[in-house]
Order: sequence, then structure tokens, then C-alpha cells
Amino acid sequence: MARLTGKVAIITGASRGMGTSHAEKFVAEGAKVVLTDTNEVAGKALADKLGPNGIFIRHDVSSLDDWYAVVDAVEKAFGPVNVLVNNAGILGPVTKTAKLSEADYMKVCSVNQHAVFFGMKATIPSMLKAGIGSIVNISSIAGIVANYGFPSIAYVASKFAVRGMTKAAAIEYGPKNIRVNSVHPGFILTPMMVEATDDNGGNATSMIPLGRIADPGEVSNLVLFLASDEASYITGAEHVIDAGMTAQ
Ligand code: NAP
Repeated sequence: MARLTGKVAIITGASRGMGTSHAEKFVAEGAKVVLTDTNEVAGKALADKLGPNGIFIRHDVSSLDDWYAVVDAVEKAFGPVNVLVNNAGILGPVTKTAKLSEADYMKVCSVNQHAVFFGMKATIPSMLKAGIGSIVNISSIAGIVANYGFPSIAYVASKFAVRGMTKAAAIEYGPKNIRVNSVHPGFILTPMMVEATDDNGGNATSMIPLGRIADPGEVSNLVLFLASDEASYITGAEHVIDAGMTAQ
């Protein structure tokens, strides 16, 4: 049997980068997946490629109304949601604290932090109907330590918040058979990384004990495991996937 048979998953930010990789692996392992993103063209193309077990819905994760519409559509298409991957995120401007505008701070926190709350708020009632759930919140090593180079204070704040919200929700909903974990990637080769660096993150390799940037699929392997029943006793935990960077 495939590892995600019987799973109905929402993956946000699925039109490119790690979200695309997660969606491909989830469908390959038997899940029914709703891919969401603000980028409709790429999202629809990916859903077409994935076949009947992948559907795309346009979704701005910073809108709670959008979240309710997504959960409603998923229930109509596939039944109650039992997996949520809160993956969508933005880096925002790479600048120091005194130069970061209030609007940019709010925008980063809205997409990276408030949207994770909205996602859990809108999806947990569906998981309660399902009687089981796994929520995987994508944070960053910037949610563990603040000293790896370029992210702004807003990015660090939002990713630390995701780590804390994950633990709070895990404690609240453990008794209802809903697990909640955070994932903390290091340097992963995605469009976000390419756009943020001049060298596809190449300069960072000297800081990485394994000496290389990761392929998105390496993170998908961890996300898939946490979504699956193989991780049945794992909740409220932070899962670092950074080739040893934060061990230093
Ligand atoms: P990416 O390549 O930029 O992909 C992110 C996707 O999220 C894009 O398709 C983007 O759409 C979408 N998105 C942005 N804002 C959205 C919104 N408001 N509503 C819905 N979708 C939205 O990023 P990635 O590198 O795959 O990152 C995925 C997650 O991992 C993020 O949470 C990121 O912070 C985290 N992370 C990344 C790294 C890394 O090294 N890449 C490391 C640690 C953590 P548009 O293209 O239309 O904006």
C-alpha cells in the first residue's frame, strides 16, 4: 500500500519550489491533494500533470475567507481534510531592522505567520470530522537561530512564531488525534533561494557541514513522513533539515 493512501491533503504555495515537490510526492504516494497558491497558471499546469488526485484552487493564504472557501471545496471534492502543509511563504525585503518598513514587516508576518494560524483555524474542524489529522507547518532555520545571513527581522519573527504556534496547537489538539509539527529547512534550491542570492546560494556552502544546498525533494521526504501514519507518535516537535548548519 502507498504511504499516503486515504490522506486528503491541502498543500499551500504549491505552484513552485518546495510546495510543488511536496505535491508530486504526495500524489505519487496515494494522497488526494489540493494544491493552492496565488500563481494560478503554474498551479493549474501542475494539477493537470498530477491527474485526478491533484486539484488546484487559487488561494491567498493571508485571507481567512479564502481559507474557508478552500476547505469547503476540498470537502466537496475529496471529503474531510486530514493533512495540511502550511508551506506558502515569502522572504520579503532583505534589509536591516531600522530600514524595514512597517508595511513590509506586516506583509511578511501576514503571509508567513498569520496565515499559518488561519490555515489551522479553518482546517482543524474538518480534521475533527475526519477523526485524525497531521499539520506540517513550514518554518525555517530562521525559526531556530537568527544568525544565518540575510533574512530580515520580520522573517525571523514569523518563523519563530510558527515554531511556537505549532507547539501550542499540538498540545490543544493531541487529545483529538491531530498531530502538529514544524519543519525547519536550511538552504534549499528553490526559486525563493535563486531570487534571494546572486549565486543560487552557492556562497552558503562554506557554512554547511554537508557542503551543499539541498534539493526540494529532500525536504519533501520529511514532510511526507510527518504527514503519514508512520509518524503516529510525533507531535509538537521541531524537525530541522539543514545538513548540520544549526549544529555549529
Ligand atoms: P518559493 O519558491 O518562493 O515558493 C513559494 C510559493 O508560495 C510560490 O508559489 C508563491 O507564489 C506562493 N505564495 C507566496 N505568497 C502567497 C500567498 N499569500 N498565498 C498563497 N501562496 C503564496 O519558496 P520555497 O523556497 O519553496 O519556500 C517554501 C517555504 O519554505 C516557505 O515558507 C519558505 O519560507 C520556507 N523556507 C525556504 C527555504 C529555502 O531555502 N528555499 C529555507 C527555509 C524555509 P508567487 O510565486 O505567486 O509569489
